Formats: sequence, structure tokens, C-alpha cells
Amino acid sequence: MKILAQIFIFIFLFLTSYNMFLNFQLSKFTFIDNQKNNKKVCIILIDGLRLDAIKYMPFIKKQINEKKALFYKSSCFIPSLSRPGYVRIFSGSSTKINGVSKNFYPIPSTIPDIFLLSRKKGLKTALCGYYWIYELYPFSFNYKYIYFNDDSNIFTKALNIIDKHKPDLILIHPMKVDKAGHKYGGISLNYKKACIEIDNDIQKLYEKIKNYTIIITSDHGHKDKGGHGDDNLKCLEIPIIFLGNLKDIKFYEKVSTTQLDISPTICDILNLPKTPYMEGKSLVICNNMTFQNKKFKNINKVPVALILISSYVSYLATKIIFRK
Ligand SMILES: [Zn+2]
Repeated sequence: MKILAQIFIFIFLFLTSYNMFLNFQLSKFTFIDNQKNNKKVCIILIDGLRLDAIKYMPFIKKQINEKKALFYKSSCFIPSLSRPGYVRIFSGSSTKINGVSKNFYPIPSTIPDIFLLSRKKGLKTALCGYYWIYELYPFSFNYKYIYFNDDSNIFTKALNIIDKHKPDLILIHPMKVDKAGHKYGGISLNYKKACIEIDNDIQKLYEKIKNYTIIITSDHGHKDKGGHGDDNLKCLEIPIIFLGNLKDIKFYEKVSTTQLDISPTICDILNLPKTPYMEGKSLVICNNMTFQNKKFKNINKVPVALILISSYVSYLATKIIFRK
């Protein structure tokens, strides 16, 4: 009984203090104009998609060839792993700053992400993705569909959410390409098949959400024989693609990009303030102000501090509650 109470108090204290810390940071950002600009963004993060896998995706390839989509050859960083990749993409900060360097790190990220910034501005956010993203950002989404293993209907779920709630920023995060990569390798027939299936899903979605700017990218690539994490070129090369509603958005073309550029770009599209942790550059030509205040020092130590304090307080609390 005592141990259960301790766990409960610990989780409550940890999440509450984490939420307070995030809100404290957000309170320091200037949300320049509070008018919504009616832009909507749909991020499709295809887990484990190699740059050269685009050749297996006829719809996307056609959009690029017909100049209806903008394609950037981009790169991720070491470790070329999923959870570190998610945090780099959604916070715009490098692994050194955000501290999320492992896949098995089920602790919320202490750096404000683009979804939380959107919510703070009054925009609606949605997630259809793997539970790791929800673990990183438990307070960032208005609407969510989270899966643990089976991602087969996430595009349908995403369309349901879009129809019903019309979120301003939605993340769709399929895992099947990564799974095929691990099981059969990055040049296997099964990997190719998974890419074709996702391409088909994207085409169907595209037809139905013409008012959304769609961003397609990946957290990391895959080796020919499968697997990722190190500095193998096939793990580090990823695509960034913009398609759908690109009206009134001017992009810098033919520039070199990394996955750190995605967050500041979305900030410019949705007119959100950038956080001081964003180390990349926006791919959109505009002169949105960047938040200039200093970064919190050693932000990657904050989760450890919160865990220590929460454990100690929950220990003290149960000692008082269960005293004889
Ligand atoms: Zn993987």
C-alpha cells in the first residue's frame, strides 16, 4: 500500500512540476500577434525512411517532378535513433542541448516543442503516432490517437480527427517502414513495399486535406542490411518535403538543411515565436522575430532534478501519511 502511494505521489509530483517548468518557460516567450493566420500544417514523420527510398514512392516522386512539391536532401545527426530524432525535429534543439540521446528514455522533454507553442497560441494540435511521442510530450496535444504496436489504421484515424476537430497542427507518425527496415533491411523488397503503402496512404490523405501544408520527413534512415544509430550515411540522410497548400509561402531553395530546420520553419508558417533552443534555420523567407532571451543553462539536467525531488517528497509524504 505504502509503495503504491509512493509511486502515485511521485508520478503526480513529477508531471505537475514538469508542466509548471514548461509553462514557466512559455511565459517568457513573446507571442507577437495573437491573430491566427489560418494556415494549417500536417507533419508526416515516416519512421526510418531513407532519403533514397523516395524512388519507391510514385505519388511523392510525381509531385516533386511536377514541381508541386519542394524536396530537400537533408540529414539527421548521431545518434541516428528515433527518440533523439523526434526531439531534434519537434524542439529544433541538438541532442547536446536537449539531452535525449537514447531510445529508452521514457521521460518528458523539458524543451518547449512546436505543438506546445501552438497550443499556447490558441491553435489546436493532434497526434496520431507511436506512444514514445506522447511520452515525450504529454501536455502538447489536444487530440490524440496513440498506438503501441499496430499502426495500420493511423491515416484513417488522422482523417477522422481532421474531419471532426480541424486541428491546426497534426502529426501523423507511421512505423511500418522502420519495422520493415529492421526486419528485412533498407534495400529489401519488404522495405520497398512498406514505402509504396505509405505513399498510397499519403496520396489519399492529400486529396482530402487540400488546405493543409504537408511536411514529410523522417527521424533517421536505415542501413542496407537494416538498423540505424551510428554515422552510416544511409542512416544520416533523410528527406524533407513540402507539398499540399504552399500558397503564400516562399521557401529558400537549394540550401543545405538538417532536421533542426523543421521546427523554425513550422514556427514561421504558423506564425509562432521561436524558442531560444532552436539551432536550425527556417526554410521560409520571412522576417519573423526569433526569441532572443538566454537559454536555461543545463536544461538536460532538469528531468533528473525533478525525479530526485519528486522521489524525496513522495517518500516524505508517505512517511507522514502512514506514520503509526
Ligand atoms: Zn528503428
